[in-house]
Amino acid sequence: MTTTLLPAIFVGHGSPMNTLESNRYTEAWQNIATSLPKPKAILMISAHWYINATAVTAMQQPRTIHDFYGFPDELFAVQYPAPGDAVLAQRVAELAAPTWVGMDTDQWGLDHGAWSVLVHMYPDADIPVVQLSINANEQVDFHSQLGERLAPLLHEGVLIIASGNVVHNLGRIQWGLDGQGFDWADSFDAAARELMMNNPSEISSLRNHDSFQTAVPTPEHFLPLTYIAGIAAATDATMTVFNDERTMGSLSMTSYIAQPKQI
Ligand code: ZN
Repeated sequence: MTTTLLPAIFVGHGSPMNTLESNRYTEAWQNIATSLPKPKAILMISAHWYINATAVTAMQQPRTIHDFYGFPDELFAVQYPAPGDAVLAQRVAELAAPTWVGMDTDQWGLDHGAWSVLVHMYPDADIPVVQLSINANEQVDFHSQLGERLAPLLHEGVLIIASGNVVHNLGRIQWGLDGQGFDWADSFDAAARELMMNNPSEISSLRNHDSFQTAVPTPEHFLPLTYIAGIAAATDATMTVFNDERTMGSLSMTSYIAQPKQI
């Protein structure tokens, strides 16, 4: 029997409005999904479930969470009715050991970090999705090592998608700057790209970059990247970059596909 190794993907999700738009970013998400074998299930690591614990959604039918304000009604009307997968949730807990993973049956669901991307990749919502929370009490190495332990899922028909933004400073957004970044954003993103492409095991060294505090004023959008870095380092993955672009000055849309060579 041949088993296809699915990739682990980091997606820069950007504005929730990407849900409703069809643009160069969302077209790339769609193209990647159509180029892959159909996964059995998806493990989604979203910047927007940032809590004081490591947990997975374990309910049969995760609800669609509209975790934002000030956007059009059309966005609040979006539903992503993918089923959950309690067996995958348990498998994540098993692989994550000795890290304890809480089974969430009634708190969370799928947030916009997950569904803004999934509506483009898998519009039929027919693939079960489990979300993994990002434990806010832990440092970069914890997250990249947890990613590493989850890599066997790629052998089991599970697609891993981590959704965040390498550079994410909403306080400095300049709406008119479509497709352009400030110099510090370009410079931080380039340093991240260099590590992701050539040396993902050293991803935590980005904390020493001159622009770290400006590019990563809060960790939640950056940390999803470190899961993919951990998986890439552990599986000797071939790394491809896509949507390599800064926009609105202080957001990076830069995204990565880590295709493992071995697990
Ligand atoms: Zn976000």
